Amino acid sequence: MNEDQIADAKLVDASQHDSATGRYISIGAGRRKFASDEDVKGVTSGGLTTWLTQELMTHGLVDGVIQVGESQDSGRPMFSYQISESAEEVRAARKSRYYPVNFADSMASVRGNGKTYAFVGVPCQVRAARLVCEEDVVLREQIVYFVGIVCGHMKSAAYAESLAWQVGVPPSELDTVDFRIKRQGTNAREYQFGAKAVRSGEMRVADTGSLVGGSWGHAVFQLGACDYCDDIFAETADVVFGDAWLQQYERDWRGTNIVITRNLEIDRILKDGVARSEIELDGLTPAQAASSQAGNFRHRRQGLAVRLADDLAAGRWAPRKRVAPDVNAAPPRRVALIRARREISRVSHDLFAQAVDSGSLALYIERIRPYIARHDRYARSPWSKLRTLRQLGFRRSFSRIVGRVAKMVSARV
Ligand SMILES: Cc1cc2nc3c(=O)[nH]c(=O)nc-3n(C[C@H](O)[C@H](O)[C@H](O)COP(=O)(O)OP(=O)(O)OC[C@H]3O[C@@H](n4cnc5c(N)ncnc54)[C@H](O)[C@@H]3O)c2cc1C
Repeated sequence: MNEDQIADAKLVDASQHDSATGRYISIGAGRRKFASDEDVKGVTSGGLTTWLTQELMTHGLVDGVIQVGESQDSGRPMFSYQISESAEEVRAARKSRYYPVNFADSMASVRGNGKTYAFVGVPCQVRAARLVCEEDVVLREQIVYFVGIVCGHMKSAAYAESLAWQVGVPPSELDTVDFRIKRQGTNAREYQFGAKAVRSGEMRVADTGSLVGGSWGHAVFQLGACDYCDDIFAETADVVFGDAWLQQYERDWRGTNIVITRNLEIDRILKDGVARSEIELDGLTPAQAASSQAGNFRHRRQGLAVRLADDLAAGRWAPRKRVAPDVNAAPPRRVALIRARREISRVSHDLFAQAVDSGSLALYIERIRPYIARHDRYARSPWSKLRTLRQLGFRRSFSRIVGRVAKMVSARV
């Protein structure tokens, strides 16, 4: 079953529908009320995912949460699905891990134990978990809530390793990473990446945007399956949380969640949280929700149409998606960018593996850079140059130029 078919069968509380958001009861943006700056820094965005999963447990609606956290074993992988059965364990599993994980062992470990759980995952994980529960009647009784996390694409473990190496921690010495370190007073997008070495235990940090591959638009180490995904807002989940990447919220360094509810009980818990002043939520429209993930939609809808058409033209198998193959889904320059990005994802895995084999980070950086430069040439429109100038702080001169042009035009009129 595709996302629409699952949602139609399972999300009957959510009677409204939009092609970007899927089914919904309400859409909002907000965050939990933080007790301290440490609390702010402990979560990825507005912290509502952790808040809600803790509430589900407090209300006795579930016995535990199946979610991703730091692995307990000292060996790899760094992060894995695990079972949280106390508020403290849920708290310990905060933060996004842009790292591949699988839930097979966790599901197997709880199957038949008589307890109920909320499952937290990115869209494809939620859909897969829903489908597992369709097949397996025991798990179907146990997994009673599906909590979605918005996803741009999943990364291989090389993403963490390549960024860590760039901050001075080579793969052989890597203990753990933090993908989202918030910086007080900055724009929420300007987060940092940190890596800890086994021996020194010191966390080495750099602005994510300054690292090669740090821009999500370049899609380094994206998994191949993500090239075929059209689900941004975890359309089969009872509720989904993401980042509200909208100008009015990005300014706040604490981070702001976008939230879409599709289950009445969860919608009520969130509204009660607002009434008790534990959380803040503003209402948003489906169009605002979509524009908070604008790049994501370009990649997953226009981009997917082009990639499917390219596969068909090359005689390659491609899955059937809700988006139809169409090489004209985007203007030619955008099509070139979509293809350049796909190429970056494809080559990045091998280039990094070769760098690890030869013990030379420079080898990866030198070889991936031309692919990124090619992508960026297509990304650079005159408008995006103006936008960059604005972001760099030329706000006043930008307004002056606009003012002068407006005056000249009105003088002519
Ligand atoms: C691979 C990936 C890509 C993402 N891309 C986008 C995007 O393009 N746009 C956007 O708005 N948001 C994206 N997000 C979501 C974003 O990073 C935040 O997770 C989300 O905004 C929730 O923030 P929070 O403060 O409520 O989360 P927190 O309260 O910090 O809780 C985070 C929750 O996510 C779970 N989690 C962490 N890593 C994973 C994982 N690998 N798989 C499944 N669950 C996990 C944790 O167990 C925890 O329950 C992505 C997340 C991931 C994992």
